[in-house]
Amino acid sequence: MHSTKPNKLDLTMPVQYVKGVGPARAKAFEALGVKTLADLLEYFPRDWVFMPEPVKICDLRPNENATVVAVIEQTDFRPFGRQPVFKAVLADETGVCRILWFHGGYLKNKLAPGKVIVASGKPTIYKHQLQFTNPKFVVLDGTGAADPQSLAGPVYPASAKLANRQIKRIIQPIIEDAGEIVDEFYDDKFRAKTKLITRPDAFKWIHFPPDAEKLAQAKRRLKYDELFLMQSGLALKRYKIQHFSPAAAMKCTDKIDSRIRKRFPFLLTEDQNIVIAEIVADMSKSIPMNRLLQGDVGSGKTVVALYAALLAVANKTQAVIMAPTEILANQHFLSIERYLKNSNVSRLLVTGGITPKKRNEIKSRISTGQTNIVVGTVALIQEDIDFANPGIVIIDEQHKFGVHQRAKLIKDKTPHRLVMTATPIPRTLAMTAFGDLDVSTIKHRPSPRPKVVTRWVAPDDRQKAYDFIRQRLRAKKQAYFVCPRIDPDPCDTNETTDSVKAATQHHKILTKEFGDFNVELLHGRMRSDKKQDIMSRFRKGQIDVLVSTIVIEVGLDIPNATIMVIEGADRFGLAQLHQLRGRIGRRQDNSYCLLFAETENEATKSRLEIMTRTNDGFAIAEHDLKIRGPGELFSARQHGLPDLKIANIVEDFNLLTLARKNAFALVSSDPMLTQPQNRNIRTALIAKFGEKLGLVDVA
Ligand code: ADP
Ligand code: MG
Repeated sequence: MHSTKPNKLDLTMPVQYVKGVGPARAKAFEALGVKTLADLLEYFPRDWVFMPEPVKICDLRPNENATVVAVIEQTDFRPFGRQPVFKAVLADETGVCRILWFHGGYLKNKLAPGKVIVASGKPTIYKHQLQFTNPKFVVLDGTGAADPQSLAGPVYPASAKLANRQIKRIIQPIIEDAGEIVDEFYDDKFRAKTKLITRPDAFKWIHFPPDAEKLAQAKRRLKYDELFLMQSGLALKRYKIQHFSPAAAMKCTDKIDSRIRKRFPFLLTEDQNIVIAEIVADMSKSIPMNRLLQGDVGSGKTVVALYAALLAVANKTQAVIMAPTEILANQHFLSIERYLKNSNVSRLLVTGGITPKKRNEIKSRISTGQTNIVVGTVALIQEDIDFANPGIVIIDEQHKFGVHQRAKLIKDKTPHRLVMTATPIPRTLAMTAFGDLDVSTIKHRPSPRPKVVTRWVAPDDRQKAYDFIRQRLRAKKQAYFVCPRIDPDPCDTNETTDSVKAATQHHKILTKEFGDFNVELLHGRMRSDKKQDIMSRFRKGQIDVLVSTIVIEVGLDIPNATIMVIEGADRFGLAQLHQLRGRIGRRQDNSYCLLFAETENEATKSRLEIMTRTNDGFAIAEHDLKIRGPGELFSARQHGLPDLKIANIVEDFNLLTLARKNAFALVSSDPMLTQPQNRNIRTALIAKFGEKLGLVDVA
């Protein structure tokens, strides 16, 4: 057995000290995101060129890549004209072919009759004969020094300051020493079982693969490692939250349960009961709950959240409900008020419009524990309110996932946490972006979703659509018009264009168009009290047509509004379109979603078409993830997840599942990763996650 090698290269070494780099190239590397030796090892090629096995000249086919080993019979250099050409005739025992290089003057002293070369390229027919034009080649000098493999190899993402050739030359010697630099993570038994090659081999072959098979093995191993480290990070983060600050364990007796259920004027659905059982089980422990509750709009999440809140109150703690906007906070408060009429649970709505005096009063009622349930926006509640005894924090994120953070309410105990979202989270995201949360899903709504007919309306049919809307308005129904922006684009002089409707401008047009009806405008720059006023008049049916921007996207529940018109629908993402459509179809009346869009873009067309085909939020979310990629849907950095360099959570889903299972098993068997066999994993994990996940103190 050798002792640890003294001269082992350190992965954190700045790239500047790598042989062949130096200060100037280090700058160029930094521009490519490479700062350390570890970064350099993970600077993966974007493509690989394999040199085909040599063939005989008689087997060459026009327009097919091929390599030949042949002797030069004649050469001919014509230095004249605009394109000096170096020509040669190649021969082997089966035939001859031509070869030529434009601007080939430099070859005069290199290629002479009698020399043997390896040439690789795509021959074409010229004057009835096969001819290579500008092929890659090496001259075999009989010493074995020439390496035909140099014709093949990795293709790195290069820059003007750093060519592929240079990167290749810097990485190659390091890779030859991969065994000295890179540590293995797993034992042989595990690698055999999961069919993973060694980690040093993976680095060797990802950069300089001998063949396509080995390249595939290298990719699989490195993808697995990347996913495994990410999942181990999530598992550790979760372990830490669960074990380092306790929550209040809540009792749910039959008496408490039936008292809460009596508050609802209906029986809970099977899905609601399942989800409540999961939440009650979590809350009964002193490990803080960290659960995501997903369910389409109208699936009955608010009722479940209120159950959890009342359970916390029954256990003499406070419940905090936070919404992304004031409008939504308001709406939550209203529906809670409905269920809690005549109850002695005290509840408070915190809004932006209150006077400082009132605010102080509210704050003191919350900090002395007189208030049981507090509702407000995340910003308002987190500002400076001190809770006497927060037992649960419920965060309604609607579609805006990614904004959730540990609430800053922690006293001596961590509150349980329930995050609600109306955007279905595809499985891949549930395992990555939300990988430290448990997930509960409400699949079926209390009442079947009323049909929402979705149509994509061509510009020529706009008037017909307006006539249809007029007819619905006469039947006392209400309509939303959603525009992509508040003000017209000053650069856009074409007022007739369909796709860039601005709310302020469109409001004027629609006021004329629907002259017999009350048309109002709502947008994010309006004052909060003005917005509240318009919302409440729309709710009461005093407004027929509401022209707005995306502000109405979140959670509004106005059953009589059965028409949703989306202007410039090509400007919105699928998740947004689905959210907007969720505003209608609240009751059994037929509802109509009209998408106005003028587009020739195939991806956009496919997005709009899927909207007309399905109402299934999960199908839409999966589709969105496929066409836009995970990066568009959530920001990895926001979640403290490392950027993935090689794995793709959608394409490598099976590997992700395997990595997750193994990572969580590892952390439960060795939570601090202190066992000797896990040392290399721990080192790599800390290097990758750093302080992002707060793992440093765990380590
Ligand atoms: P979400 O928050 O998921 O959008 P809500 O909790 O607001 O859904 O419920 C949507 C509507 O369905 C509300 O009007 C609510 O009163 C009603 N509802 C919820 N649960 C039930 C149930 N079990 N039976 C009948 N109606 C229900
Ligand atoms: Mg709701």
